[in-house]
Amino acid sequence: MPTSNEPIFLSALAINGPTQRADLARLIGVSRTSASNLARILHDDGLIEDLPKPGVAASRYPLSTSPKAGLLAAMVVSDKEVGVSISHLDGSRQATAAAALNPADSPRVWIQTGIQQLQHLIARSYPSEPTPDIRQCLVAVPTQADADTGEVYPSPASRRWIGINALESVSGALMCPVRINNTARVEGLCEHDAAGSDPSSVTCYARFSHGVALSHIVHGEIAAGAHGGSGELGHTVVNMSGPQCSCGNHGCLMQYTSIPALQTRIRRVWPNTEARPPALLDLLATPSGTWPPEATNLLRDAGKIAGNALANVANLLDPDLLVVGGELGVADSPFFDELALTVRQRTLPLISTHLTISHAESSRDLKRVALAATESLRSDTKLMTAICADLTNRSSNQGKTPHMMTRNLPGSRR
Ligand SMILES: [Zn+2]
Repeated sequence: MPTSNEPIFLSALAINGPTQRADLARLIGVSRTSASNLARILHDDGLIEDLPKPGVAASRYPLSTSPKAGLLAAMVVSDKEVGVSISHLDGSRQATAAAALNPADSPRVWIQTGIQQLQHLIARSYPSEPTPDIRQCLVAVPTQADADTGEVYPSPASRRWIGINALESVSGALMCPVRINNTARVEGLCEHDAAGSDPSSVTCYARFSHGVALSHIVHGEIAAGAHGGSGELGHTVVNMSGPQCSCGNHGCLMQYTSIPALQTRIRRVWPNTEARPPALLDLLATPSGTWPPEATNLLRDAGKIAGNALANVANLLDPDLLVVGGELGVADSPFFDELALTVRQRTLPLISTHLTISHAESSRDLKRVALAATESLRSDTKLMTAICADLTNRSSNQGKTPHMMTRNLPGSRR
């Protein structure tokens, strides 16, 4: 029979990353002898292994969780790319990959591509070993999905996703528990981590792309709202007599600050020359000093509207860091400069004094976003404790089928 300290030892290793026996003994408050005994039992069960380090004596190698203990995984879907990642429970042996998506395809195809990418990544990473099980997978999608069920509620704003349940598709294909989240929210977490933010800090990340979304990170965790629906900044009304939005309301922020809205306006204001107005994304790729003044003014006006909205957000949430992302959130552009200026002007002094405003960098790489997602699973103490209790329980119940011993893990469905 296992001692009750086995799951505690294993989860301390998972949460803290590769650690020496003596340090694990200190962390969980047992003697070095007890820690060595626990390590031996978990070693014999195949759940942990030594992590050889050059120049370090074998007896002092850090311990690491094994492939048999399983993997944490993540899949982050945008409308043009999918990023996937895997890692051991203790964050060691990470691997990541990304694949381009066709924006014209159904999101159902995007999810299938993500599943295949994860399967290939695992097969490539463990070619000569039994394929490790995924203990938990985080799936991030660029729509509003119910955190408990994965359901996308019918709305004209999410029409492409109606009837598509990423949570059920991924858990069915990969046979693992899945948590669902929103892509912009996970990008915000990536920016928060990359900034080396203080654990007690608050980060807001706003993405201005084909849609407009907000991510709110509190004390290192994504604040997703009660049902996983928070962050719909693009559908906040900024002008009640404005144009109708896909959500049915009038004058939503995304009618002024999204790529489709600005693409239409660029065509209208472009100087009447023989040259056709360029696609907005092509224009954004050129230095703004070369733009006609009409285009500069248009992007500046949009930045002001976005800045007003984000000043409201900052006054409500008091973040330390505000990161602006998406194709429109590039540095040294009229949009970003005007946005930052407006936020500075419109926030109250306590907030503006402590606020750093920057443009997104790390979240532009979906592989980094996917790695931030697996790390967020690992930093969930409740989840890791449950996974490790399940693993040590299985080892003491050899012979029963895995299905009998799979518990419901917190915040996920199987
Ligand atoms: Zn709307």
